Amino acid sequence: MQKKKLSLVVPCYNEEKNVSLFYKECEKAFKSTKIDVELVFVNDGSKDNTIGELKKLIKTKGYEVKVVNFSRNFGKEAAMYAGLQNTTGDYVAIIDADLQQKPELILPMIDVLENDESYDCVCYYQEKRIEGKFISFLKKSFYNVIEKMSEIQFVNGASDFRLFRRYVVDSILSLNEKNRFSKGIFSWIGFNTCYLPYVPEDRANGVSSFNLKGLLKYALGGILSFSVAPLRVSTYSGLLFSFLSIVYLIVVLIQKIFFTIDVPGYATLIACILLIGGLILFCLGIIGEYIARIYMEVKDRPIYIAKEVLSNKGEKDD
Ligand code: UDP
Ligand code: MG
Repeated sequence: MQKKKLSLVVPCYNEEKNVSLFYKECEKAFKSTKIDVELVFVNDGSKDNTIGELKKLIKTKGYEVKVVNFSRNFGKEAAMYAGLQNTTGDYVAIIDADLQQKPELILPMIDVLENDESYDCVCYYQEKRIEGKFISFLKKSFYNVIEKMSEIQFVNGASDFRLFRRYVVDSILSLNEKNRFSKGIFSWIGFNTCYLPYVPEDRANGVSSFNLKGLLKYALGGILSFSVAPLRVSTYSGLLFSFLSIVYLIVVLIQKIFFTIDVPGYATLIACILLIGGLILFCLGIIGEYIARIYMEVKDRPIYIAKEVLSNKGEKDD
């Protein structure tokens, strides 16, 4: 049987202390397998010496290593896209550089694809979240909301730690939208996915780049990318308020004509104006969010700018 090749896409942002550890963990994990391994690191505009450490790895005798060096920080989504573009393997995995996702866990994923032709990709999901209660609650609520709002299926706790067959990677790359929300893209392209549970480790070194604000922005971006349901807020609330105002008008007319009650107006009027004004601004905001996205998409800027793509291919002497 022809030797299979595995590519690992590793987005790195401020991971100077982790990348060489990561490399060593890969050596440990794949030592006993016959598979060829290619590591594609993406330096996502790190502020520390990640690029220096990656350049050292290129010189290490061993795996085929590629480094895509971004001109600035473009975000993990862009880094994953750039990494996938530079892979050549039959199987392609996406994995974090911080060792929260152990490289050895790729072996069970490979087993699934090797032994079951019907599966096209494998995804790890967190059965039990390791984050605090509040963040876990927010993340769970996000999955419930996006699942209801969009037409695609989202699995609660599904991570970006995945393994794809080559043709699945090609499909992911064929979606070249700028506002990328990979969790949605992975579901949208379809294919048969096998979900395996896992428990993420603690970060080896450094801190997470995603704070609460970042996560909320990510969640909002995800919903706007994969659903137009928020736009219906204005339609439905418009209908509701039209109906309520007709009912109120009838009540006021009856009071005035039949009971000659003086209709007190000031407080009601102010409250209504403020309420409706707030609602109009809210709906305009939603529309604005979509227009902003259309604006960014039509500009058709590239998803990332790479300063250089380094590789040790051809320089290997084994
Ligand atoms: N990452 C990246 N660009 C960014 C932020 C993060 O490439 O702008 C990488 C980071 O180096 C890591 C992975 O994405 O390999 C996950 O990031 P992090 O560990 O900060 O997130 P968490 O695990 O807390 O969700
Ligand atoms: Mg992490």
